[in-house]
Formats: sequence, C-alpha cells, structure tokens
Amino acid sequence: MKENIFNYADERFADVQMLRYRLEGFEELTLKQKTLIYCLAKATLYGRDITFDQFGKYNLRIRKALECIYTSYRGDRNSKDFSGLTEYLKRVWFSNGIYHHYGCDKFIPTFSESFLREALQHSDYQSIGLSEEGSIDTLLQTICPVIFNPDLLPKRVNKAAEEDIILTSACNYYEGVSQAEVEQFYEHLKATGNADRPVSYGLNSTLVKTDGKIEEEVWRSGGKYGAAIDKITEWLEKAIPYTENEQQAKVIRLLTDYYKTGDLSVFDNYSIEWLKEQDGRVDFLNGFIEVYGDPLGLKGSWEGIVEYKDLEATRRTQIISGNAQWFEDHSPVDSRFRKPIVKGVTANVICAAMLGGDEYPSSAIGINLPNADWIRAEHGSKSVTISNLTRAYSKAAKGNGFREEFVIDRETISLIDRYGDKTDDLHTDLHECLGHGSGRLLPGVSSDALKNYGNTIEEARADLFGLYYMADSRLLELGLLDNAEAYKAQYYTYMMNGLLTQMVRIEPGKLIEESHMQNRALIARWAFDLGKDANVVELVSHTDSSGKSKTFVRINDYAALRTIFAQELAEIQRIKSEGDFEAARMLVEKYGIQIDPMLHTEILERYRELGIAPYKGFINPRLTVVYGTKGQVADIIPDYTESYEHQMLRYSQEYGTL
Ligand code: ZN
Repeated sequence: MKENIFNYADERFADVQMLRYRLEGFEELTLKQKTLIYCLAKATLYGRDITFDQFGKYNLRIRKALECIYTSYRGDRNSKDFSGLTEYLKRVWFSNGIYHHYGCDKFIPTFSESFLREALQHSDYQSIGLSEEGSIDTLLQTICPVIFNPDLLPKRVNKAAEEDIILTSACNYYEGVSQAEVEQFYEHLKATGNADRPVSYGLNSTLVKTDGKIEEEVWRSGGKYGAAIDKITEWLEKAIPYTENEQQAKVIRLLTDYYKTGDLSVFDNYSIEWLKEQDGRVDFLNGFIEVYGDPLGLKGSWEGIVEYKDLEATRRTQIISGNAQWFEDHSPVDSRFRKPIVKGVTANVICAAMLGGDEYPSSAIGINLPNADWIRAEHGSKSVTISNLTRAYSKAAKGNGFREEFVIDRETISLIDRYGDKTDDLHTDLHECLGHGSGRLLPGVSSDALKNYGNTIEEARADLFGLYYMADSRLLELGLLDNAEAYKAQYYTYMMNGLLTQMVRIEPGKLIEESHMQNRALIARWAFDLGKDANVVELVSHTDSSGKSKTFVRINDYAALRTIFAQELAEIQRIKSEGDFEAARMLVEKYGIQIDPMLHTEILERYRELGIAPYKGFINPRLTVVYGTKGQVADIIPDYTESYEHQMLRYSQEYGTL
C-alpha cells in the first residue's frame, strides 16, 4: 500500500481548521477536459464578491478596509490589535462576511475601534477605491458601528418565529420591507403565475421598497451584480469550445442567457437541460442556488463548483439509484405519499476541482438539485456526493482523540473504526440519491407550506430515509455492505452527534439554528423520547479517574431504534406531503432548537480539551497552465502550495468585481 504524503490539514484559526483536497485522477483527464475545468473554475471564482454582498450589506466594504490594513499597515504589525484584526479578517474571508458561516452571529472583534481608525489612516487606503463612500471618514463612519456595536445587525439569518424575520436578519436580500410585505409580494406573484410549473419566485433579486413602491432589483447583466455576472458569463462562454458534448454546450448557453436576462423561466429550462446532461465527465454548478441564507427561503445565495466524475465510487451510487423504485416501494411511509414511479434519480460520486461563493471555503459534501419541486417531480434530480472532500475530512480527523472521548466503549469504537467511513458515505448517498427525491406532495399542497420549518423537515426526511435503509438487508444483497452489523456504526454516530457532540458547534447560551443541525437534533432527541419506555437509547454518566462526570450515549436495542426511525420517517413524510405546518412547527420547536445548558457546558469542555476545531473549510488548488514551446496550452496542473491568506488576497485582487 502506498500512502502518499499530502497534508490534508493546513492552517488553523479561531474555530476553523483549513483543509486541502486533492484532485484525484485529474492527471488522467484529457487536455480538453482540463481546459474545460479551467474555464469553468474561472467562472466559479468570479462570483465571490456576490456572495459577500448577499451575506451582508457592509461585508465588501469591511473586507476591503481590513485587507488594505493587513497588506499595507505601516505601524506595529506585532501588536495585539493587529493580530486581533488579522484573525477577524481570516474569519471574514471564511464566512464571506462578518457573520459566522454556520451560527450566523456577528463576529466579536478582538481589536479596538480606535486601532481600526488609526490603522486605516496609516495604510494605503487609496487602493480601496473609495468612489462610492466618498472619503475614508465616511467609510469608517459606516463600517465601525457595524463591526463594533453588537446590537446593530447582530444576525445574518434570524428564524426565531416570534419576530419579524426579515427586519431582524442582516442578510442583504431585502431593503426597507417587512416580512408581511415580502410574503404579500410573493403570494401575489404566485397567484398570478403558472400554478403547475411556478418559477422560483424571488430567487435572483433583492426586494426593495423605494418611496412606498416595492420592486425587485434583478441580479443580471446590466442589473444588480452585473459587473460580476459579466465576468462569469465571459468565462462560461470561453468554456463552450471545450465542452465534451452538445448537451453541455446547450446547458452553458442557457445559463449565460439566464445571467444576461435574469429570466427565471430560462433558469428552469437550464435546470432541466442540466439534469439531462449525464454523459460528460465534467460538470459544474454556477448560480443562485440554495436558499438557506434567506429566513424565508426565497433568495438564492451565489455558489459555484466545478467537478468531474470519480468513476470508481460512482459505481456504488449507480447501484443505489438503479434500485430507486425498490427503495421507494418499501419505504415505511403511507402509500399515498410514495411516488408510484420514481423518476430519474441519478447519482454520481464526484471530485471537486474548484469551490466558489457559498461553497467556499466551507463546502457541502453532497448536492441534490435542482430545488424546484415541479422540476423534480417531472424530471427528477441530479445528485452528487463529493468524494475528495469527504476523504480530506476523514484523513484530517484520524487520531484526533474524538472517538475515544465521546464513544461509550472499545467495542463501539472498533465498530466505528471499521465501518464508520463506509456507512457515512452510504448514508450520504442514500440521503442525496434517494431521500430528497422520494415521496410526493398531496394534490394542492404547496411546496413551501412548511415555511421557515421547511428546510429542517426536508433534511430530516432525507436523513431518515437513509437511516432506515442503512440497516436493511437489501444493502448486503446489493453488495454495498459486507456485514449485517455495519449499520450500527452509523446509528451510533448519528445518535451521538444529534444528542451530544454536534453541540460543539454552538456557542454557550445559543440555540440550534442551522437546518441540518436542527434536523439531526430533531431526529435523535425524538427517537430518544420514542424509545424511552423500552429503554432503546439512554444517556449514561461515567465518572472518570479525575472525578469528572461524563455523559455518553448507549444504544441498548439497535433493531428497535430502526423501527423508531421508520416511525419518524412516516410522520415526517406525512407532514411534508400534507403540508402540515402546525405539526412541523411543533416537532422542530420541541426537539430541534433548545439545548440543555449543563450538558452543553460539559460537551464543550470535553471537546476543548481535545483541541480540535469544530469547523472545517478548504483551500482551493491553484490550476496552473503549462505552456508548450509554441506558446500553446500544453497541460494544466493543480498546485497545492498556496497559503490560505495568499489565496484569499489573490482572489480579492484577481476576482474582485464589486
Ligand atoms: Zn440534504
């Protein structure tokens, strides 16, 4: 066995560990495919400023001011203030703004306002391009309160039900409108549009109220974000000659049409054609896609990813999707909520080649798109899991002491050591390839009936689908697992994560707010409750040698836990299919949000002692062109040596558009 020396783990700061991912098998691609990836990668990097602006109105101005100080400050660069500013800037880069990428809370600076003011005066601030702000004083007057006043715009996405979630969220999708006005505006649009095949209303615009009039500022060429969008389309068009087939070229043309016009029906056409493109080795996403960053789930944050198929691992998901109908038919939900015919669930394992926007540096490890329900119903969805990112996570986590600290006994640890990675991959596959694509809404039920609880319920549905089938003998018959006990590794880690360890990502006193985290807490705590009488899962306390009490999850009856997951899946699917908002609200509020402060303190303390960063993100490779003797492109090679700071500063320089 040859273990190559590749440093998956790189720099660490605040609560973040930077990782590197390898472009496995990139050298086997043809020069044409590599060139296609190169052009698409450029289009991916050119959207970065859009995401910054979407995540907060002042983010770009703050980033530019901080970068200016970081690169040109002529005072003491060894002071506490300067290092505080440096760490703050690294966090801003990581989060595409001044709010935590996961918790959405505004960062608390560890440098003083007077330092910032002084430092900017002693830096080359002319380089920021102060045209809009007028002067450095105006700039400071604008950004200082935003950075230093904790009460001003404290949260990027606020989903607390009792408040006006638009007015209290700092994300930059709405200007001067209340939640009621937004809801009214889009309900009106929906009512007048195509009811069967609605476009994704509001997906690509800022909703602005000026002089009492509410209008959309559309994100398109010549409109808002036009400067960035023009660079993106330029590189998409450059990619066309290198496409692998006519369908890929068609997809790119539709996307550039959409960017040029902002027409959401063109985006739907693009999505449908993108779904149909299955033959190429290279694929990409580029656009306003996920809606988690909007408390009402309407506005798409900009993201980009370029990818190519991991042929070996794709075999696994093809087996799963090839059996999609069997899984749908045997799922433990009411037959009225099942799809009689599961369409086009495709699944590919891919290697990421470039990450951008909302996928950078923190990235998803699985993607299932498009999001429009009617397109999914009529055309299916395309689903990918990203193997080289998953690999980087697990390689970097080896031997960090986490399992030894939180898993209850040796036996369970060795089960997880043996089957943890494999069942994790499988669970992700089942979640993405089958979970999201399964089930159907009853006629007349709107896909956003569950409102602010919709994302959490949808993720719970996909996770439960995966959990239920993880223990099914069908996986052994299909050759996807080779041991009937393997699923226990996934059940244990899932319950441990949902009940205990995912809390390490939450600061003391805070609630669970991110949809995927809410979903995992919901599933685990609800399962705990459902199995209480039969003692299926319990929390036990062990006292260690130093007299400290430590809480562990013990699963007493794995088979019964599977039955509970089935029961949960049936109910979650019912809620989704019937659009039962009240039941969704009740479940999420009861299980998905609160945290026991005593337990939280204990878990944070134990985790802190391990010295592991709770969040991970990726440094992109740098794709370098090798020129031949006649000046032609001879090869493209990924370079993994660029540092985090260098990459971020370079991106701001080379890809700064707004
Ligand atoms: Zn999902």
